[in-house]
Amino acid sequence: MSSQIEIQRIEKSKIASVDFNNLPFGSVYSDHMLECNFKNGAWQTPVIKPFSPISLDPSSKIFHYGQSIFEGMKAYKDAENNTLLFRPLDNWKRLNKSAERLMIPQIPEEIFMEGLKALLKVDNDWIPTNEGSSLYIRPFMFATGSGFHASPANEYKFIIATAPSGAYFAGKVKVLIEEKYARAANGGVGYAKAGGNYAAQFYPTQLAMDKGYNQVIWTDDNTHQFIEEAGAMNIFIRINDTLITSPTSDRILDGITRKSILQIAEDAGIQTEVRKISVGEVVEAAKNGNLKEMFGAGTAAVISPIAGFGYQENDYELPVLENSFAAQLKKKITDIQTNKVADPYGWRIFV
Ligand SMILES: *Cc1c(COP(=O)(O)O)cnc(C)c1O
Repeated sequence: MSSQIEIQRIEKSKIASVDFNNLPFGSVYSDHMLECNFKNGAWQTPVIKPFSPISLDPSSKIFHYGQSIFEGMKAYKDAENNTLLFRPLDNWKRLNKSAERLMIPQIPEEIFMEGLKALLKVDNDWIPTNEGSSLYIRPFMFATGSGFHASPANEYKFIIATAPSGAYFAGKVKVLIEEKYARAANGGVGYAKAGGNYAAQFYPTQLAMDKGYNQVIWTDDNTHQFIEEAGAMNIFIRINDTLITSPTSDRILDGITRKSILQIAEDAGIQTEVRKISVGEVVEAAKNGNLKEMFGAGTAAVISPIAGFGYQENDYELPVLENSFAAQLKKKITDIQTNKVADPYGWRIFV
């Protein structure tokens, strides 16, 4: 496969203009991207080429019908300068699950994995080595095929673009438990990383921000009585010493960080529960002091601790803990990701 990837190198690298000691998150891009087109019913030869704008017909279906999906993953450097990926096949499988739901063709494992590895080799110098930094990787697929009729396109583009990124600091996150809007519904596309899911989150999130919160806690669309996700992250709630997360479903994204944290927590002897979490139970626990922690889990921030939440005009603060589950679990997972400790799970892939 690697012999079938065409490589067009950039004339002059942009790397000297980047301050690797002050990297933002996801807004500085590496020299190259991988691009592969689907046409005449088949994926064409993948090309690694300079990161550059793409030109599309105004009638491309991506603009009108939103056939667009993505993934988020990271590459890390260890102390020996090896490049590592974390459970990348899970991202590939999930991209294809999203593709199926949005009527986008399946991307073969070879194009995804060999294309990604070849891209990481070409842009090897762009993978940050500083503590907490990583190369954020954004694979995505969308409809380029044209026509104003509402039907799946016949042409698509798969791109992998990368961004050297510093640690994702959300700060002290104050969240609002949502009672009106929903990010997903039964039978819908909530489990897919479909672009439109995020567009639909922006407005309710802005309303929460206008009230002084940073983020929305999504509840089930039917009753708004059960906690589902924290913004675009999975949610964990610690009541006393039990760590609870909602079960994945049509509405809840099957996060790779979520399932890794569950495994690591169980193996560290932390009591875990995967079950529906009612808003009433969390409010009650906050009132009687049993609510110890809430945090979001996802690739970008790994773990994003929540400092407090609002619900029905009341605000509840969470305690500041010395040795929080959030801090312990974040260290364990990032140590595995960056090859600082053994990986008993086989999650790391050397590039
Ligand atoms: C991507 C995403 C997550 C986290 O998934 P990871 O695989 O851990 O990055 C959780 N919820 C939503 C809605 C997401 O889009």
